[in-house]
Amino acid sequence: MNLSVKILVSMLIAAVVGVFMNKFLLDNEFVKSFILGNGGFFDVGGTMFIKALKMLVVPLVFCSLIGGIASMDDMKTLGRTGGKAFALFMLTTVIAIAFALTVATSLGIGEGFDIDSANRAAVTVKDAPSFGQVITNIIPDNILGEMAKGNMLAVIFISIVFGISIAHSGKEGERTAKFIADFNEVIMSLVNIVMNVAPYGVFCLMAKTFAEQGLEVFLPILGYFFTVAGVLVMHYVGTFSGIFFMARLNPLTFLKKMRSTVLFAFSTASSNATIPITMRTAEERLGVDNSIASFVIPLGATINMNGTAIMQGVATVFVANAYGIELTFIDYLTVIGMSVLASIGTAGVPGVGLIMLAMVFAQVNLPVEGIALIIGVDRLLDMMRTAVNVTGDAAVTVVVAKTEKKLNLETYNDPEAGIFDAIDVNSHEHDLGHKA
Ligand code: ASP
Repeated sequence: MNLSVKILVSMLIAAVVGVFMNKFLLDNEFVKSFILGNGGFFDVGGTMFIKALKMLVVPLVFCSLIGGIASMDDMKTLGRTGGKAFALFMLTTVIAIAFALTVATSLGIGEGFDIDSANRAAVTVKDAPSFGQVITNIIPDNILGEMAKGNMLAVIFISIVFGISIAHSGKEGERTAKFIADFNEVIMSLVNIVMNVAPYGVFCLMAKTFAEQGLEVFLPILGYFFTVAGVLVMHYVGTFSGIFFMARLNPLTFLKKMRSTVLFAFSTASSNATIPITMRTAEERLGVDNSIASFVIPLGATINMNGTAIMQGVATVFVANAYGIELTFIDYLTVIGMSVLASIGTAGVPGVGLIMLAMVFAQVNLPVEGIALIIGVDRLLDMMRTAVNVTGDAAVTVVVAKTEKKLNLETYNDPEAGIFDAIDVNSHEHDLGHKA
């Protein structure tokens, strides 16, 4: 079985086990203490898996991006690549939210909704950083401190300036670049090792989510749930296919090769934690040159959130209608602008979409308590929108690479390229997961 099938099977089993536990075993003391609760089996297994992925992110981005920058012909290429990626990220996010607002408004989602019928959960939304703060945080006062915090924009900045300095440091620079390139290979092998355990980690994460998430929370807001889910699917298929057609690439090849990455994104609900897998897929499965993938993917994981924008668009219309508040055309434009800005300022971690939503609501005078109406189904939607966010990061990376002539079409069109092969960790001679 290949990896995506294995992950899919473990997800399905986890969903069944989780729903069963939610229905019949929630009050069982043993299940509560040792399987479901904090510190229980699912929690420990899932947390270990997410941490194993997260521990790879900073070293991988640092080493890979330094290599990418050092191999760029000149700094103009870097500026051009960054500019194109940024423009495409913003464009796809604007399309996503405009699309979501249009669909939600035409369906009149939330109209006549009985606010008291919702299963409300307490909302505690932290303040999002201001735009100025985001910009100043890009430059670290302590390199190791920002790396330790996993501040992705700062890590990107550090790697770029290191890459530039290496290129200007003669022999010493060459030696450093060689060492970092070797280290990067080692981390890539580590990514393969972590991928090996993915089916188990995913099982724990999914089983826990389903066991905690009773089906009852969905019932009052099925309309909201399916509107977000529907627009996510339409954007996933429609917008991404559109940009691939424009770039004269077969979108189906892309979507097929993204399957296991999408499953990682879905089960972790974190674009950031998925970075190692997205980078591997972009380089080894899709044929994107390291100089583009190492830069555009971490940037996208931080500033690009198509799926999140979709949730925000639908949520805004839903809450406005539920509270009987009329939104003006200017309000709609404000929502679009705010969610684009908010996605730049917040990192791709689970649940951050709601923090951003609070910012959007504040701008158009919607009650922040409205978030309580939709929070019950947010975990599942978070998983779905993260899958779309990550696909957006990879789509833009491939398209930018194509326009920069840094896409290996042979690899892109080869269905077998970079396929993950289960590895035998006991054997040191094994070529760690790379198919020859
Ligand atoms: N979890 C999402 C991501 O990591 C962000 C969000 O919408 O909450 O991309």
